[in-house]
Amino acid sequence: MHEVSICESIIDIIVEHASRESTSRVTSIRLKIGEMAGVALDSMRFAFEIVAKGTLAEGAELIIDTVPLAVRCRSCGRNFQITNYAFSCAHCDSPEIEVVSGRELCIEEIDMETT
Ligand SMILES: [Zn+2]
Repeated sequence: MHEVSICESIIDIIVEHASRESTSRVTSIRLKIGEMAGVALDSMRFAFEIVAKGTLAEGAELIIDTVPLAVRCRSCGRNFQITNYAFSCAHCDSPEIEVVSGRELCIEEIDMETT
């Protein structure tokens, strides 16, 4: 379950950030996760709870914004969203497409209580 190591890195960042701001508690964390980031959201929530235990982020609310997979067609230049893993252009049927979003995995916001 690689979600655990992802959560460990996230907690590391949060704790480092929080210690600079003399934070007593982290109340919520907002993550941005692309549909194609290869992360299972259920596992992510589960792993987060375990990894956050005993840190400033223990009990923090985990908010996850998902980013749909969006691509651009190299043939006709249109942007569209992929559905049902059909990797060809929805407009001209060209297979020459590139991913423009949907692979992100980042921390968008950290809410903290300061002392
Ligand atoms: Zn096209």
